[in-house]
Amino acid sequence: LRRLEKVRKDFVANVSHELRTPLTSIKGYVEALLDGAKDDPEEAARFLGIILKQSDRLNLILEDLLQLSQIESGQVLFKRDPVRLSTVVDRTLSLIKPLADKKGHTITVSLSPDLPPVRGDEERLGQVLTNLVDNAVKYTPANGSIHIAGQVTDSAGREEVELTVTDTGLGIPDADRPRVFERFYRVDKARSRELGGTGLGLAIVKHIVEGHGGRVWVEGNEPIGSRFVVRLPTASSKSHQV
Ligand code: ADP
Repeated sequence: LRRLEKVRKDFVANVSHELRTPLTSIKGYVEALLDGAKDDPEEAARFLGIILKQSDRLNLILEDLLQLSQIESGQVLFKRDPVRLSTVVDRTLSLIKPLADKKGHTITVSLSPDLPPVRGDEERLGQVLTNLVDNAVKYTPANGSIHIAGQVTDSAGREEVELTVTDTGLGIPDADRPRVFERFYRVDKARSRELGGTGLGLAIVKHIVEGHGGRVWVEGNEPIGSRFVVRLPTASSKSHQV
């Protein structure tokens, strides 16, 4: 019980801190405008731009928090349809391709042709892949390679589909790997913020994957980068949903 209480307190402290940063910035720029910056049109426009950006950031954090809390509270029931990964991949790519192109990344996909459908919620699984590929794009310096692969594996006699997202980016130090799935945990806070991160994306991924009876983890990619691995039960395997 005491541990739970500590987790809850830490969480509230983290949320407060995350919200305070953009809010402090907004307040500072509003005050500067009132103090006179409003009379200089160029400066006023610049300050308003910053205020807009910080408000967007507040919005993003709140949206992610809301989503996470809905998933955690079990308010969101995942569908349990047969889902083809090729559909999920196509959908994700159409969303992310423009961002990847902008950074000069190459995205390749290889899905094994006999890939059976998984059991789950197409939209939520799309969110999992989108968060993973979005991170790969963000944390890989320009002109990198991102590879999405899907294959069948066997885990203790249970057929599973393994989906991996591999990048040639910054990589994640060994010690941080298990922790990146925690809410607000970031290897480099400043960089994450700069890239528009909320620190909640992987926590959402983990919840969705586990809600599908699956597992997710991250490995190092050789010689550089990261590989995120998602294992999901196939639609024909005996159901085992949490
Ligand atoms: P964020 O909004 O900060 O990206 P996430 O929960 O999606 O939050 O990821 C948590 C942290 O894990 C990131 O801040 C980053 O340090 C690390 N991370 C996630 N994906 C990658 C990746 N593909 N390469 C390197 N680091 C990553």
